[in-house]
Amino acid sequence: MNDRKVGIILKQQDYRENDALLFVYVHDIGKMTFVARGIRKMNSKNASACLPFTESEFLYDHKEGSSIQSLHQASIIQSHRKIREDFKKNCYASVVCEMIDKIMDENEYDESVEECLKIVLKGFDSDSHDNLYLSFFVAQMLKVVGIEPQVDECVLCGNQKIIGISLEEGGFVCEACGKEVKILKKSVPILKQFRLLNRASLEHLEILKRYAPYEDEIVSLMIDFLCYHLGIHLNSWQLYNKTV
Ligand SMILES: [Zn+2]
Repeated sequence: MNDRKVGIILKQQDYRENDALLFVYVHDIGKMTFVARGIRKMNSKNASACLPFTESEFLYDHKEGSSIQSLHQASIIQSHRKIREDFKKNCYASVVCEMIDKIMDENEYDESVEECLKIVLKGFDSDSHDNLYLSFFVAQMLKVVGIEPQVDECVLCGNQKIIGISLEEGGFVCEACGKEVKILKKSVPILKQFRLLNRASLEHLEILKRYAPYEDEIVSLMIDFLCYHLGIHLNSWQLYNKTV
């Protein structure tokens, strides 16, 4: 039992009778999978440290060449309990975790992804800016994968009088170009927020709160942009939208 790592649990999945698989974003390593034996028994002492969205320290013996590591013990660093007690927060945190799972490869570590994940989970856990945190996380992921939308001028002609967004063209579109390509017409406040979110870095999150409220529409727009350009589908987002 020589290996200790800190990570955030993205997902827990039932495995065999009393076990569970933990999909974890681990500091300095990236995505890792642990098998937590006996964790679904009533008296498991590791159960609370293995819940989704919890930041924990994991004690295990590293087995070289194995895709699943066997967990001995887990202890909580940050529980983020309030997320699991609130339907919307729970769904939003699941969307964030599924994005990391779908976008990052095994053992691909990115410090900014880890930092952003911690910031938004802490946010979900502590206040009600849920729409901002989820939109902000998407914007940061767009940066990580290098597909930020053009939000300074029309992506086709450079005109600065913007009336909407084209997912296909990758950003703002002006009225004239909007007649040539398919666009999503958006109100000025939504266009402004879309620009702010996509220009912001981690240190700007507090400033972004001044521009609240962030409507559901902006969250959908950000997620649609990401999914379109990465060709991914987020089951947790679909599930949330079916329910509300
Ligand atoms: Zn144009």
